Amino acid sequence: MPERSATSAREILTGLHDVMASRTGAQAKLNRVVKIIAEAMSSEVCSIYLLRDGALELFATIGLNQSAVHVTKLALGEGLVGTIAEEVELLNLDEASHHPEFAYRPETGEELYHSFAGVPIVRNERAIGVLCVQHADPRPYDDVEIEALQTVAMVLSELIAGAKLVDKTTAAADARRDMAMARLQGFKLVTGMAKGIAVYHQPRILIEHTVAEDVEAERQRVYSAFRKMREQIDGMTAQAEFGTAGEHQEILETYKMFAYDEGWSRRINEAIDSGLTAEAAIERVRQRTQTRMRQIDDPLLAERMHDLDDLSNRLLRIVSGQLGSAAQTGLRADAILVARNLGPAELLEYDRRRLKGVVLEEGSLTAHVTIVARAMGIPVIGRARDVRRIIGEGDELLVDGDEGVVHVRPTSAVHRAFESKLLVKQKQRAEFAAYKSLPSITLDGVRLTVAINAGLQDDVEALKVTGADAIGLFRTEFQFLVSATLPRREMQQKLYKAVLDAAAGKLVVFRTLDIGGDKALPYLHAEEQEEENPAMGWRALRLSLDRSALMKAQARALLEAGAGREIHIMFPMVSEPWEFDDAKALVEEQKHWLQSRKKQLPAKINYGAMLEVPALAETLDILLPKVDFLSIGTNDLTQFLFAADRAHPKLAERYDWLSPAILRFLRRVVREAQQHKVPVAVCGEMGGRPLEAMALIGLGIRRLSITPAAVGPIKGMVRSLDRSKLMPFVEDLLNKPPEDMRAALTRWARKHQVAIG
Ligand code: PEP
Ligand code: MG
Repeated sequence: MPERSATSAREILTGLHDVMASRTGAQAKLNRVVKIIAEAMSSEVCSIYLLRDGALELFATIGLNQSAVHVTKLALGEGLVGTIAEEVELLNLDEASHHPEFAYRPETGEELYHSFAGVPIVRNERAIGVLCVQHADPRPYDDVEIEALQTVAMVLSELIAGAKLVDKTTAAADARRDMAMARLQGFKLVTGMAKGIAVYHQPRILIEHTVAEDVEAERQRVYSAFRKMREQIDGMTAQAEFGTAGEHQEILETYKMFAYDEGWSRRINEAIDSGLTAEAAIERVRQRTQTRMRQIDDPLLAERMHDLDDLSNRLLRIVSGQLGSAAQTGLRADAILVARNLGPAELLEYDRRRLKGVVLEEGSLTAHVTIVARAMGIPVIGRARDVRRIIGEGDELLVDGDEGVVHVRPTSAVHRAFESKLLVKQKQRAEFAAYKSLPSITLDGVRLTVAINAGLQDDVEALKVTGADAIGLFRTEFQFLVSATLPRREMQQKLYKAVLDAAAGKLVVFRTLDIGGDKALPYLHAEEQEEENPAMGWRALRLSLDRSALMKAQARALLEAGAGREIHIMFPMVSEPWEFDDAKALVEEQKHWLQSRKKQLPAKINYGAMLEVPALAETLDILLPKVDFLSIGTNDLTQFLFAADRAHPKLAERYDWLSPAILRFLRRVVREAQQHKVPVAVCGEMGGRPLEAMALIGLGIRRLSITPAAVGPIKGMVRSLDRSKLMPFVEDLLNKPPEDMRAALTRWARKHQVAIG
């Protein structure tokens, strides 16, 4: 079969090649095209319909009445042709009139014909027209004929775009406007509402040339693209499994399987044999596989199709040399970014003024990309299915991060509902803003500290906007993540000083570099890409202590920035007390160096440790006498306590922060810190959720450092809470945990009118 397919497609392509090269007008070209196809397929009718002004217009035909050309028009979804265009699916019918959508058009004279085969002419994943053949005999078309039609449709798409037969922008816009709106349900990773135009992080490649000039040259291009792609996949697999490149182990394995699949490369080569360019051949095989897979209703296969789709796109990017992500091209309007997954550095590459929301096919609550987006105030929907099929590049999207919903190509009614919800939200935000100048004080008069997490200079603005008490966690690695090269000491110092100045006397806790894990830096990790499990690997303080030059530069930058002021320095991922000692000694050494050069020093340096590795809890009696403060990083702590990768989409909802294991663990840490009179804070994402924060307060936590958007809701919760009533309740709960801790806490909150939202 493939042999015959290649031959019949090749015959047609040779003819089309001449047509495309000829100097005749577009209409004359189309007239010749229908003739060539009809002859090659011995069909009585061959017609081309093109989308113009939102309707499919008969542009050229052989076999139907010529007087119907430019007269017969079908709406999207109307008749067989309209159905093909709307569904972007082929139809193969031995008796056309039996199809429920059949619409008879007397002016065409098509009543003579029984069998019908039509394929969409696709550009940018949308149908811009339909190519069809008809026979008087009632007979179905075989695979070879259909494949030939599909191949020709691809070439026609180039011819039509080149001849500007359909106005590119209006046709696409009209088509989309007419396409039904869709609603995608996902998982709410970052709440909030946003509207914008869909932009794919890895844009689909637009195929410019479909007919090959030199088959051998095309074969070589595909061959070297395959080699390059295999190298990339091998590199990614070897690099690191969990999330480093935004990819997952399981996916990488499938990528690898496809990348080395002989069948796939053979089919692409066959398509090249038929006369297509490398790009067109890859796309042709992708479409064909997709059509076949769609006929098999199996979710597992659908998932694999998805992987193959990704890989085809990667191969296309390599072969066409269009390698950049949408960040490199730049956002031209308010955008909703659509991606399978992203790393935090990739997200930070986008223009913050234009990036309004993110839709991911994967994603989890505490992956760093989510944290970064949360800090940027960008709503994120995760684990959205079927994204590629439903969302087209440039489609209008409304993201409702509170419901985990994306409205695709919304109708005016959906628009109106969205806008009115937005108004309510704005009102709510205004109410929260009213808390700005009010302290976080409980009903029974206990003053708590509600601080914000930050990482970039712009984030400091949130201190003023929210009226938070402090910056409880400044993630210094963000400056490194947004930079293409290692930021020099002077740049670090400049940032720290600017942050301290902007904080205007409010406390700022600078956390020393936490790189590694899902925050790999290309310029630092180049030689050390081999980690099996980077979240538990050479990251954070481990890396800093080993690469002491890096840490020394940062320590100097912090000390110089804090000259004459009281500063707070915190070390991440302390696993054993000696690591804290070494890190502190390193900073002190820099202090002495500055002292010896008569430089002004900070008025006071407070040293803190993050508790995020469970082992540290066993040696708190040794650590606590050494530290000025402790901060619990519940994001990492819970991933290590439950042995559940924080970036793994399948584990995103598996374990609850309100589980007895976590809450008991935290109770124990809080108690020990209290005994040593060491202030203890929570700076993980957990503290930014009202119910979780309430539970933490019930355990005795008095300091929270949270994402800025959560300050209002958390203050509201604190100010409606009687801590003296909550504490014994939480104590009882932990001694005798109910089956559903979350439900029990929710009930209590409701009964006592605590504002948990
Ligand atoms: C944490 O682990 O809880 C934390 C606050 O640090 P990060 O999220 O940056 O790892
Ligand atoms: Mg951490």
